[in-house]
Amino acid sequence: MERIEEKLAILADAAKYDVSCASSGSDRKNDTKGLGNAAPGMGICHSYTPDGRCVSLLKILLTNVCIYDCAYCVSRKSNDVKRAAFTVQEVVDLTINFYRRNYIEGLFLSSGIFKDPDYTMERLVRVAKKLRTENNFNGYIHLKAIPGASDELIREAGLYADRLSVNLELPTEAGLKLLAPEKTRPAMIRPIRFLQHEVIRLEDERKVLKKVPTFIPAGQSTQVIVGAAGETDMEIVHMASHFYRQFQLKRVYYSGYVPISNDTRLPGIHSQVPLLRENRLYQADYLIRLYGFQAHELLNEGHPNLDTDIDPKLSWALRHLDCFPIDINKADKMLIARVPGIGLESARKICAARIHGALGWDQLKQMGVQINRAKYFITCKSRSLERKELAPEQLRQLLLTQSHSKWLKAHTAQLSLF
Ligand code: SF4
Repeated sequence: MERIEEKLAILADAAKYDVSCASSGSDRKNDTKGLGNAAPGMGICHSYTPDGRCVSLLKILLTNVCIYDCAYCVSRKSNDVKRAAFTVQEVVDLTINFYRRNYIEGLFLSSGIFKDPDYTMERLVRVAKKLRTENNFNGYIHLKAIPGASDELIREAGLYADRLSVNLELPTEAGLKLLAPEKTRPAMIRPIRFLQHEVIRLEDERKVLKKVPTFIPAGQSTQVIVGAAGETDMEIVHMASHFYRQFQLKRVYYSGYVPISNDTRLPGIHSQVPLLRENRLYQADYLIRLYGFQAHELLNEGHPNLDTDIDPKLSWALRHLDCFPIDINKADKMLIARVPGIGLESARKICAARIHGALGWDQLKQMGVQINRAKYFITCKSRSLERKELAPEQLRQLLLTQSHSKWLKAHTAQLSLF
């Protein structure tokens, strides 16, 4: 039992660098006897199912032994770290025990590559197969698909897992060559393309056949490491957009490089990627997936990195003031959703409500529109709240000052509670 706990400590710690299933990120622990503990237990993280439910997952590696030497990875073979490997049965038992105790609702299982890709993939598949067929486990399973593994094994994994993910590791081929020369982009794309074709093939079969097996119902995702190879946000976001379009990925996850080595090919040991950069990338990703933005609208040669002080939607709007103001009672829903201060849900409500009569400012406020922001970009009943013509830089400063004083006000109010 002690040995299992030791393995769990090593292999849950090694898995924390993989963000393909997102965690809450909170590290507030319950060291006393108080109620609650925001820091999840060892190896437990949170993720969202396609229907928006938050589930807790046992997040571990099958092993941190690896035949590869990717410079950015803590499990690389040249790194002097304690190694461990679970057996297939140990992962199955842990999952079932944690599930029965209500600690988790599913499993996120990744792995270093021991021996070769097929050998590793075969073990990952056996874990999922045993859980589903021998233990009747219906919880969520997310497995890594290992580039280089055979199509048969990848297909079998898809029959048992809810989601598979192939990590693209670095946003550019140049970065891969520099930091993970044993890996190639075509080898990573192969299983992604194979899974995409399998999904389409089975969907077609479903139209004519009664019984078609379930195959990765939550689709496939990937992860890229940000800031390890000096790539711009434009390179990252354009790469993500290409994979969304080309391979219908459900999600691309962005993981800021965590300095782990003095390797001169990597950024210095103190150059941690700011969390804000990851946040901005997720915002841009959201705009592309849900708001219909094209990657080149957000990032291009003239604007290769996302602004740190304003979000990507406001940044785009300030660079396109000629598109505004728009008439909230006439404009298309997706154009309304491009207005800073108006989200998709508010845009939907606006379009549904204006059928019954032109909307005024008060109604917009009730629908969740942030008037202080949106008023510079819209007209309502032919009236603009802000008549001043402001240059983009002036408007940017004005909005920054506004949000700063809003932040100050909120914090002063909070302090006055104590
Ligand atoms: S193959 Fe995966 S586990 Fe192995 S060194 Fe590279 S990133 Fe790390």
